Amino acid sequence: MPIWDDIAQAIGEAIDAPFVIESRRPSGGGCINEAYRIQGKGLAYFVKLNAPGRRPMFEAEAAGLAEIARSNTVRVPQPVCHGAGDEGSWLVLECIEFRAASNKGMRELGRALARMHRATAERFGWRRDNTIGATPQVNTPEADWIAFWRSHRLGYQLRLAAANGHRGRLLESGERLLERLPAFFAGYAPRPSLLHGDLWSGNAGFTAEGTPVIFDPAVYYGDREADLAMTELFGGFAPDFYAAYDEAYALDPGYARRKHLYNLYHVLNHLNLFGGGYRARAERMIAELLAEV
Ligand code: ADP
Repeated sequence: MPIWDDIAQAIGEAIDAPFVIESRRPSGGGCINEAYRIQGKGLAYFVKLNAPGRRPMFEAEAAGLAEIARSNTVRVPQPVCHGAGDEGSWLVLECIEFRAASNKGMRELGRALARMHRATAERFGWRRDNTIGATPQVNTPEADWIAFWRSHRLGYQLRLAAANGHRGRLLESGERLLERLPAFFAGYAPRPSLLHGDLWSGNAGFTAEGTPVIFDPAVYYGDREADLAMTELFGGFAPDFYAAYDEAYALDPGYARRKHLYNLYHVLNHLNLFGGGYRARAERMIAELLAEV
């Protein structure tokens, strides 16, 4: 297929040496893209494929990985190249053989995430937008975190939900929650920390040496609690991870309340992507949050 010729050529340009694909095998992929492992000349790469129009999504993913790599705090797959042709768009990454997590690896992941969160910017947001799952994620920089979370996170997903036909109680209670956001932040001033942005257990792995790796990010600068909250949303990470994180960079006691505010963003995004039961879950979360303020 011509797309593989284009990919091989782009890799060759990126590594400054001719590259020929000698083997290619499908690699399951994640929720959004098709994935392959390719090999040639003793080198291995991980390739994500999607429709031609998805090129900006891959550009943003590569930029996010590069941003994390630059912070020198936690390992990510190095982005090699990205591009698009008539048949599709692609992102080529360093290929990493993942192994099962050990307790030691989990502790190291906690410490590495704490290191990454100590990398900060002047404002919340990022220099470019990206996607969360397949949904656009707006990162327009703001000095005020509450305004950022209200407008670009919860408000954005609520507006999208309304456009998808989810109005009524969800929208009314959601709008009430947006007005009451400051009540969750009394005595707490988050810093704009470098965030992975989509950190669930499927987006972290360990090398054969036990080094933690995070991948498939939706990078922006925001309250570090938002990253921690997401780790708890779908099953959670091992207790060693949380203990090591807290030891390296202690969490504020108000995290226990705010984490639901942060996870509401992802639940609303799941409603917008997949519909169904996520509506009831989002309504329940909003009601519980409103009951607290
Ligand atoms: P998607 O964007 O479609 O959700 P992911 O980036 O989450 O895809 O990757 C899907 C799976 O592929 C991951 O769970 C992981 O096991 C594997 N994977 C991701 N990146 C790499 C990589 N650089 N090298 C090897 N395997 C990878």
